[in-house]
This record gives sequence, C-alpha cells and structure tokens, in this order.
Amino acid sequence: MERIDEQIRALREEINRHNYAYYVLSSPTISDYDFDHLLKELEALEAQHPELITPDSPTQRVGADRTEGFAQVAHRYPMLSLGNTYSYEEVDSFYERVKKDLGGKPFAIAAELKYDGLSISLIYEDGILVRAVTRGDGQVGDDVTANVRTIRSIPLRLQGEGYPRELEVRGEILLPFSEFDRINAERSEAGLPLFANPRNAASGTLKQLDPAIVASRRLDAFFYYVPAQPDMPDSHYERLMQCKAWGLKVSHAIELCHSLSEVHHFLDHWDEARHSAPVATDGVVLKVDSITEQEELGYTSKTPRWAIAYKFQAEQVKTTLLSVDFQVGRTGAVTPVANLEAVPISGTIVRRASLHNADFITTLDLHLGDQVFVEKGGEIIPKIVGVAKEERQQGAEPVIFPTQCPSCSTPLQRNEGEAAYYCPNQSACPPQQTARIEHFCGRKAADIRLGEETISLLFELDLVHSIADLYRLRVENLLTLPGFKERSATKLLDSITASKDRPFSALLFGLGIRFVGETVAKTLVQHYRSIEELAKASLEELTTIPDIGKVIAQSLVDYFALESNRHFILELEELGLPLRRTAQEEPSPVTSHEFISGRTFVISGVFTEHSREEYKAMIESYGGKISSSISSKTDFVLAGANMGPAKLEKATSLGITLLSETDFLAHLHATQVTSTEAPTPAPVQEERDEPRLLFD
Ligand SMILES: [Zn+2]
Repeated sequence: MERIDEQIRALREEINRHNYAYYVLSSPTISDYDFDHLLKELEALEAQHPELITPDSPTQRVGADRTEGFAQVAHRYPMLSLGNTYSYEEVDSFYERVKKDLGGKPFAIAAELKYDGLSISLIYEDGILVRAVTRGDGQVGDDVTANVRTIRSIPLRLQGEGYPRELEVRGEILLPFSEFDRINAERSEAGLPLFANPRNAASGTLKQLDPAIVASRRLDAFFYYVPAQPDMPDSHYERLMQCKAWGLKVSHAIELCHSLSEVHHFLDHWDEARHSAPVATDGVVLKVDSITEQEELGYTSKTPRWAIAYKFQAEQVKTTLLSVDFQVGRTGAVTPVANLEAVPISGTIVRRASLHNADFITTLDLHLGDQVFVEKGGEIIPKIVGVAKEERQQGAEPVIFPTQCPSCSTPLQRNEGEAAYYCPNQSACPPQQTARIEHFCGRKAADIRLGEETISLLFELDLVHSIADLYRLRVENLLTLPGFKERSATKLLDSITASKDRPFSALLFGLGIRFVGETVAKTLVQHYRSIEELAKASLEELTTIPDIGKVIAQSLVDYFALESNRHFILELEELGLPLRRTAQEEPSPVTSHEFISGRTFVISGVFTEHSREEYKAMIESYGGKISSSISSKTDFVLAGANMGPAKLEKATSLGITLLSETDFLAHLHATQVTSTEAPTPAPVQEERDEPRLLFD
C-alpha cells in the first residue's frame, strides 16, 4: 500500500515539474506524448485507489494557464478539454461506444484538423466582439479582449445577418510558422531567449500586457465550436459553416464521416498532409455531429462523451549523443548544442539538436554516449526530449556545463532569473568580438558587404578586432587577403564608407547593445537625437518611454556606464560615423496642447468612450508622454474602471492627480490647441458605437 502511495507522489512531482518547465519556463522538458503517458499512468493508479486522490493532483485540473495582470472572467459554459488518444484502437472503441449509446441510430462524425495553439472563447453581442477569454482552468480565464482585438483574422463585427443576439464561439489562437520564424530571428538579434515552438510563442504573445506588442506579432485564429444556441442548426458542421458565413475563420480541413473507415481515411490523410500545413497541427478532433445526439451522450466529470482528440505522434527517433558544443554568441550567452550520430527525421538528416541551457541538461541528466530521443517538435528545430537511461554505458561521463568560457576561459556568470550563462569578457572574447562585427555589418544595421569567413580572417590577421577597425581598413590591407583583387577591395571599402549614411537607428541597432533590437532602436531614436543624449539618459527617464521596460533601460545604462564603451563610441565618431538622427529620422512636429504637451501620463483600467490604445495615441499626438508605471515623474493617471488597487494606492501616496475618462475628455476639448492643423485625434476605425466592455 505504501508503495502505491509513494508511486503516486513521485508521478505527481514529475508531472508538476514538466508542467512548470512547459508553462512557466516555456522550455518543454518532455514530449507531449510522454507527458500524456505519465498523466494516464497517474489517472490509472488513482482510479484504482480513489482514496488517494487529492484536490491538488495534476489529474484534477484541465490545465491552468491563468496569468496575473488580467481580469478574470468566469466562462458561462465550462471550457472542457477533450479526452486524448494516440491509437486507432481507442478511436475505434470511441466510435463503437457512441454507436452503442445512441442505440444503433445512424450518426455522423465531424472530423477536423486540430491546430496547436491556445484555446479562446469569444463573445459577440449583436454581432460585435465584446469579450475574449482564455481557457484558464476551464471555469475561469483571463480577459484578453484588448489583445485579441489586434488579431486581424478575428472580425470585430460579424458579417451578414441572422446571428444570435449573444453568440459564443470557441477556437484556437495560433502563430503561423512564418511569423514564428520571423519573431525568433528578431529575438535572436536582440539577445532574447527564443520561443521553443509556435504554441509557446502564441501563448507568450497573448499574455503580453501591451496590445501594441501583440499587434506587432501576427497571430491567427480558427474557430471550431459554438456552445448552446438551441436556435442554430442541429449539426456541428452546419454551425461552423454558418460561422464562416459570418466572417469567422474556420478550418478547411473538416469533413463529415459516416463510417469508421471514413474516419480512418481522414486520420491517415492528415497524418501525412499536416507536414505541409503553414501552421502547427497536432491531431484531429472527432465530434458527433448532431447537437441533440451530443446532449444525449453527455459528459463524464471532465470530458464530453461525444468527442475525442486523436493526437499525431511527433516523429521521434533514437540516436547517440556524440558530444556537446558550448557556443559563445554575440552577447556572450553560452548555448549548448548536441552533436548527434546522423539520423533521418521527417525527411531531413539531423546531426545537431538544441539543448537550450544548463538547467535543461541537468533535468535530462545527460551523459556522453547516451541514447537520446530526438524530436522535430512542430517540424522546426530538432530537440532532445529524453534519454534512454537504462541503455547508458557503465562509467559514461555526465555532460557538465562549463564554469569558464570555452573560448577565453573567463569564469561564466548567470544573471538572476535568467536561464543562460554569459561570458562577461565582452571586449576581448574572440567569438563575441567577431559576432559583434558580423552583427554590425548586417543588412538591417550598417549594411556592409562582409561575410562571416572574411570577418574571421581579418580578425585572425589582426586587421579588424572591433567595429571601429573596419573604418581603418585600406585597400592594401585587403589585397593581402586570399581572393581579394583591387576591384573587390574597392567595392568593400565603398560599402564601408556608405555605412556612414545609414540611419541612426540602424547603426544603434548594429552596436549590439543587449536587448536593443531593431524596434527598440527606432523607438530610442524618436526620443534621443544623438548617442550622447542617449548615453546621458537615466534609468528612470528611459523607463518613461513606451515599450522601454526596466530590462532594456538597465542594459542601456550599464552599457554607457562602461568606460570602454564610451571610448569606443568616441572612436567611431572620430572615424566619421555620425551616431545621430538623419534628416529622415526627425520626428514630425506634434501639435501642442496646453494640458497634455510635455506631461507624463499613466493609463490604467478599462474605458468606455475610447480604447486604451486610442487614448495613448491622443496623448502622444499632443506631445504627452506615456509611462507604464507610476513614479514621481507621473503628472496624471488616466484612470478607467477596474484600475488595479496597487496602482491606485501608489498614485494616491505620491499625490498624483487621477483623471476619470470624462475629466480627461473635458480637459482635452476645453483647452485650445495651438496649432493650425489641430486634429482631434480620429478614433481608430469605425467603432464609435462600441458597446461597454462587460466584466463579471
Ligand atoms: Zn569568453
């Protein structure tokens, strides 16, 4: 008895650990298949020993993803998850059970491709989108309406007519592969950790507190279910077609099956065809089509009895771990990469796989020579998902994350709260130096036509050790390099000279300051005319700039605090590189407003007349500043409904004036605008008659 108890406890701990890695760290430590397997094992044990079930067991929740910072809203109808299976046998027994429970009546199964994203519930009132809520724990989720409104494929107003006065539709929010790749490329350039897969990226995006960030990442959405609605057709399939006519995106991969062999055929087809889909898919959902029959079949305590999710197995293979490289990147971050015995997966030969970070290696308990399971999750970067520990050779050496830089031997450091280790020797660690030069030469930075190999060569020959050295190169230097002729040398020098005319934002991005990606660089240039001005900015001042958070601000302050960096900037300027705004980068003059110009606002809560984004745009268009947090520099808080109690307390304790929406609009219209153009900022789109957001 005690052994079962012990077994259950160990399983729960293991599941919780993987859950945390998945939802909190966004670094899965196990394949979905293995995870479901563990969960099933636990369910089976608990079924045999119901006296051992505790309310905090991982089997007792649907999968919580609630986040602080969003209002919590109860679902009118609980968002249940579906029973999962990986085998045709279980699909068959599902089919047979339905057949039996329906007493032999003919029935149809709607089979639809399941997208690998994040569940969402939308509420339309009189055809207008009023609320979007995440699944959360199935009963209560996060109100992410502001973020969901930025998703282009979700209609803010339904098309056509005949929709119910109140309509709930459920679907999946996801990130297409192309967008996933673009965002990760940007994050890599900015030295930020990469998203493990499109689902994590979609989830991380939807949980952003700033809708502008959400809007910049092009999420997509597909809808697959309409709960309740007795007046709609009695067929799930027809309801979806109806939704499609109202402008909601519905999967084209949906089919009505009238026999088990038609179901098998659909599964077979998509197991293969999904590899060419532009979005991540992880299975097929089978639902009894008739709503009446669905109700007849009913629910178990956690899942509907009229539906099941068949999950595709991610292609997984076993191979040998030969060695692990520890690569030093531009920012000094040390990334472990596994070298594998070559093995084919999903049509490509895989030799290397990502190991993410030191914690990941520890969790896997990786040893050299191990038989490892490699998976192409969502068909992207291959990753190691497990180790066959029972096959480990005696005396195998554990993989140990180095404590010193593999290139320059400087002791590695780890910042609190970050998974990565860094080599702090920024100025003299060779791979960091060459990677910085390479980054600076990039197309979006200085745009100098210099490849990785030539940079390494110039570095080895002591011709170029820093970005500044590029501007000291002469034709005769280049002619000493293999393959360089007069013509190619001149061409390269021309592109170096031309880089002096690049926009300030591109050059600033090119400097490779940690967390200063392309977008951040553009934002900074709107606020600072030159690098000198930027270098003088304090942490507090920087954080008042919209989209510049504490982490970015701290990184900038740290950068300019270093004597060597200040010297380097001077050096660049002496070599003729102007680190200041070009004429094109001068911000267009803002209309001034007596009440708003030059004042700092914090916007908090929910508004009825205009959206938060519209208020932000109004304030900025009159030269006001928006800050995300209340400080002594805040002049006004524009306070909507449901303003957070912590913010309210802080504003009160600092004696900052709170403006209601009505106060603000009164000030806005009462005060004269001192410009000839004087636009009352146009509300975004045609949503003047936007209904009040509803809060439970
Ligand atoms: Zn180093």
